[in-house]
Amino acid sequence: MQLALKCYASDPALSRGRRHAEPPAPTRDAFQRDRDRIVHSTAFRRLVYKTQVFLNHEGDLFRTRLTHSLEVAQLGRSIARALGLNEDLVEAIALAHDLGHTPFGHAGQSALDDCMSDFGGFEHNLQSLRVVDTLERRYPAFDGLNLSFETREGILKHCAPANAQRIDAHEPGGVARRFIERSQPSLEAQLCNLADEIAYNAHDIDDGVRSGLIEVDSLCEVAFFRRFHAETMAEHPQLKGSRVVYEVIRRMLSSQVYDVIEATQSALASTAPPDADAARHQGPLVQFSHTVRSRSAELKQFLFRNLYRHEQVTRTTERAQQVVRELFGIYLERSREMPAYFAQRSDRERAIADYIAGMTDRFAMREHERLTGRQWVE
Ligand code: MG
Repeated sequence: MQLALKCYASDPALSRGRRHAEPPAPTRDAFQRDRDRIVHSTAFRRLVYKTQVFLNHEGDLFRTRLTHSLEVAQLGRSIARALGLNEDLVEAIALAHDLGHTPFGHAGQSALDDCMSDFGGFEHNLQSLRVVDTLERRYPAFDGLNLSFETREGILKHCAPANAQRIDAHEPGGVARRFIERSQPSLEAQLCNLADEIAYNAHDIDDGVRSGLIEVDSLCEVAFFRRFHAETMAEHPQLKGSRVVYEVIRRMLSSQVYDVIEATQSALASTAPPDADAARHQGPLVQFSHTVRSRSAELKQFLFRNLYRHEQVTRTTERAQQVVRELFGIYLERSREMPAYFAQRSDRERAIADYIAGMTDRFAMREHERLTGRQWVE
């Protein structure tokens, strides 16, 4: 049960509204309606075939962008409930936060960013906003999903200064203003960032062990893992195999969730923001304690060294980057290979980036094969 919202929670009745005025829905508030629009979008369904770390075709049990987004929403909602923040807004932001991701995870994004280096670059947070603001085309009266300000604000998690200036010129005082003023987004948006970090640290350990690229013994180099591993083995000396990993991850997740709740409650108690807007001007308030912040950083470094930069992962990423670069080059020369909506746009490079970014892993591979006659070889 959602407890009464605290005074600093985002209140849908006080929303800064949508870009195109719409009558309110009879049974749902603004943030619930945003969440429903996101779930029914095309970009959301594509997340199931987009890579998180492991390519979608490498195994059926690895996380995809979709399961990752659901895990972020679940963690976010649990924490929001305990803090008296708006659960529906957290859920809407969490479900939309990765909509702008390219196929092939970070490999795809960096290849597309290289292709776009002379044309404003490519950044997945900005792309998530483009998806919900313009690229979804399913309503008669407007492009995009016409989400409320607070959901869009949460989706735009990072933004380079030049992009912030550009968006703010187009939408004065809108979602990019905080990157110019250096203020914070709502507490619900701050919470989604941490839930994202908690979720991927945990599930990348799980997927890393499952794939055989990471050994439990080497994970014990990381203080955070070692502590809960020792605790688990002391309580369950007979436990073996994947159940050990699941139990350690479960304990790590719980401890981070309780840590965020406790550290945030004390930050809120000492700053006492009277409303959601005042909370935006206090510096980040949703936070880990110092200890857990540094433990999480250590774990992240371990995953970088041992998983994201593992030879087997980087070999696939090089192949994925080649696919993205070659697709970009081909569409540049033969734009009619793209659907009419993209082929006919005058902002040619951005149209190609939008088209490629929307692809699932397997569609990009098939399209590359169709256009080059070469097959994806492992
Ligand atoms: Mg994420």
